[in-house]
Amino acid sequence: MNISENIKKYRSELPEHVKLVAISKTKPNEDLLEAYRAGQRIFGENKIQEMTDKWEQLPKDIEWHMVGHVQRNKVKYMAPFVSLIHAVDSLKLLKEINKRAKQNERTINCLLQIKIAEEDSKFGISREEAREILTSEAYSKMNNVKIIGLMGMATFTDDMEQVKREFQHLKSVFDDFRQEFPALEELSMGMSGDYQVAVDCGSSMVRIGSSIFGARN
Ligand SMILES: *Cc1c(COP(=O)(O)O)cnc(C)c1O
Repeated sequence: MNISENIKKYRSELPEHVKLVAISKTKPNEDLLEAYRAGQRIFGENKIQEMTDKWEQLPKDIEWHMVGHVQRNKVKYMAPFVSLIHAVDSLKLLKEINKRAKQNERTINCLLQIKIAEEDSKFGISREEAREILTSEAYSKMNNVKIIGLMGMATFTDDMEQVKREFQHLKSVFDDFRQEFPALEELSMGMSGDYQVAVDCGSSMVRIGSSIFGARN
């Protein structure tokens, strides 16, 4: 894998309005630094401990995104530095993020993870549950957390028609919500295997790991 060439390839291929989140989970610091030297500044991880270690060791102008499922008792470790949490799926979690952000005198941006895969998937909430969070009195009183968009993961399948249906569904939820909640501006969808479909369907943020850094063990 030539990491810096991969970064440059994606940067030139992706439309300008689409952010590239380099998913560096399980990869060593040298790999992240190679991407960094090629100009990459947004990195995504799925484990809080690993992300915190990397944040301590790597350049401070990196923007760290948490893309994995978040355990409430670990929010405090990333609250000092995380710039976007992609997979918020409950008001309880949002409350904890707000509390820890406040302790750090910060505002933490979040996305709500919507369940879009037709197959059974463990994570994500329905459109109705997302609306309940966005309209809740509890959320309206949180001053240190801001929901700035939605995130979704398509079914892991070679059937690109199915993937497309799922992404189109998420885009339509996003467009509906935006009428009501203008703060929503990011739509995180697309990974190595399906980012082209996601971009065609209106993604504003793709999360690409293995086709930048190579397969994970
Ligand atoms: C690992 C991961 C990715 C990247 O997956 P690749 O197929 O390696 O590009 C994207 N999003 C989430 C939530 C992930 O956990």
